[in-house]
Amino acid sequence: MQIFNTVAELQNSLNALRNSGKTIGFVPTMGALHAGHISLVKKAKEENDYVLTSIFVNPTQFNNPDDLAKYPRIPAQDLPMLENAGCDFVFMPAVDEMYHGNTVSDRRNIQLGSLGEVLEAKHRPGHFDGVITIVRKLFEASGRSKAYFGLKDFQQLAVVRLLVKSENIPVEIIPCPIVREEDGLAMSSRNMRLTADQRKAATILSKALFEVKSHWESESIAELNARAEKIIATESAVRLEYFSIADRDTLLPLTEKKNAVICIAAYLGDIRLIDNILPE
Ligand code: AMP
Repeated sequence: MQIFNTVAELQNSLNALRNSGKTIGFVPTMGALHAGHISLVKKAKEENDYVLTSIFVNPTQFNNPDDLAKYPRIPAQDLPMLENAGCDFVFMPAVDEMYHGNTVSDRRNIQLGSLGEVLEAKHRPGHFDGVITIVRKLFEASGRSKAYFGLKDFQQLAVVRLLVKSENIPVEIIPCPIVREEDGLAMSSRNMRLTADQRKAATILSKALFEVKSHWESESIAELNARAEKIIATESAVRLEYFSIADRDTLLPLTEKKNAVICIAAYLGDIRLIDNILPE
C-alpha cells in the first residue's frame, strides 16, 4: 500500500494507471476508521482495479471548533486496517496541501435548494460549504473514478450527488449501506468518544428508527413522530436535535408516506450523532 501526502504525487501515479486502462475506486474519509469505512473500501475493491482512500480531517466542514479539536486522529490504527481491506493507495495530505494557508470554504455557488436549508444544513451552519469545498478538491486530485459514500450521511450523499451533476465532475457516486454495531448503533468515528454510559444510551437512536419503521404501515406521520420522540425521551442522557420523516430527495418533512427517509440527530454530552433509515 502506497501513501501519498501531496496532490502532485497522487495525480502522477493515478494518471499513469488510468492511462494504462485501469480503474480507480475512491473512498474519502476523515480517518478513525471502523467497519463502516472498511465496507466502502471492500466494495470499491470489488468494482475497480485499484482503491484509493483519503484520510483528511477537513477543518472547513466543522462548525464547532471543539468537535474539530477532539476529532479522533489515529493513522497508526487506520493504515493496517486499510492494508488488510485491500486498499492500494492512501492520500493523507496536510491541511496546507489542501488549503494553502487559506482555510475558508469556497463559496462558488451550487444551488442546494432545500438540501442547503434543512436538517444538517440548518443545525450545522456552513457544514456543507466545507464538504463541497473539500470534495471538489479531492475529486480534482483523484481524477476520474467511482467514489463510494455511506448512506449514514444521507444528506451529504445528496449534496455530493448534486455537486457532481451540476459541475459535470467525472466521478460516479456509489451509495453504500449503513454498517451498524450489534445493538443497532450506526458505526461512527465519534462513537469512540462516548463514555460507557453514553454508549449504552446511544442505542436509543437506532431503536427509535427501527420502531418507527416497524409501525410504518399502521400509523400516521404524526403518530410516528410522537412515537419516536417518546422513545428518545426515555433516555435522559440523549438530547434530541431533530427527528424528521423527510422526502429522500428534498429532505423536507413529509405529509404523505412516500419516498421517505427517517433522519435523526442527537447529542450525548458534547458528542453529536446522526443516523437514518429507509422505512420501505
Ligand atoms: P467520515 O470519515 O465520517 O467522513 O466518513 C467517510 C465515509 O464513510 C462517508 O461516506 C460516510 O458516510 C461513510 N460512513 C461512515 N460511517 C458509516 C457507516 N456506519 N456505515 C457505512 N458508511 C459509513
